[in-house]
Amino acid sequence: MVFFLTGCSGFIGSHLLRRLIRDGHKVIGVDNFISGSFDNIKDIKSPNFTFIEHDISKPIYFGDKIDWVLHFASPASPRDYLEFPIKTLKVGTIGTYNCLGIAKLKKARFFLASTSEVYGDPVLHPQPEEYWGNVNPVGPRSCYDESKRAAEALTFAYHRQHNVDIRVIRIFNTYGPYMRVNDGRVISNFISQALQGKDITVFGDGFQTRSFCYVDDLIEGIMRYIERADFTGPLNLGNPQEFTVLESARIIKKLTGSSSEIKFLPLPQDDPKRRKPDISKARKLISWQPKVSLEEGLNKTIPYFKEKIIPR
Ligand code: UDP
Repeated sequence: MVFFLTGCSGFIGSHLLRRLIRDGHKVIGVDNFISGSFDNIKDIKSPNFTFIEHDISKPIYFGDKIDWVLHFASPASPRDYLEFPIKTLKVGTIGTYNCLGIAKLKKARFFLASTSEVYGDPVLHPQPEEYWGNVNPVGPRSCYDESKRAAEALTFAYHRQHNVDIRVIRIFNTYGPYMRVNDGRVISNFISQALQGKDITVFGDGFQTRSFCYVDDLIEGIMRYIERADFTGPLNLGNPQEFTVLESARIIKKLTGSSSEIKFLPLPQDDPKRRKPDISKARKLISWQPKVSLEEGLNKTIPYFKEKIIPR
């Protein structure tokens, strides 16, 4: 099959790209490197991969026949989307609109990478897909939350009005190799800080929770959904094992053997207090659940960070 993949050089996009190529598919990948990096894909020499440097917030026309449009482009780290709020809104809204236009024109299926951020600071715990969320529409995180909510609304509108065949996933916190070491997210910050003997910066009291999914598990869930399920979604994909931020700091300190101190800093505005996916639907519809524990996943991720931070 032929896939058009946006955000192909990002953290998740580059993993998905490798898996698609490995499975024998053709991929036309686009990225504008706002948060992705050419380093993540420069070793992919396959004739089945074509790369186009392009901002998907602008229209793109090409002749190839495609079977799937996969829209994975977006800044996704709070630090990135706070720095680029308008680009974040554009890629989620205009970028999604452009991708849906391509899917409609090419009679291709459309797959949207949405996010657990659509649930905002949830009052329901764990979060099932039926939950409508608790988002501050004018807060600092709204550029990401609301653009993904608009992306979901656009996707369902194209499904209802133009019969585009759609799949929507909501991705919960994911980590692994090919994350940017300085992307500002909790796992990347803690590993980088621990490896460099710097203070580990816990925001707030550290009792807020997240549920961390190793990237290979996520990619397996995405592929199962693409290959097996005939269901529009939205579908939660994430690891339901929940940790406080403070617990994750202690685990990373232990696994890196670091002597770093834990330092408490102010909690950013609107930081969700708890987050954990209800993955009953994914279990039932695509027979999927994560296999990699946090410790196992961190042990696969730490060597990548070591290589990046302390180049040989
Ligand atoms: N966090 C932290 N220290 C850091 C970075 C993040 O304590 O150096 C906290 C952050 O306040 C949040 C959680 O870790 O409660 C996850 O933050 P992240 O930026 O990874 O993404 P989010 O899940 O909030 O989108």
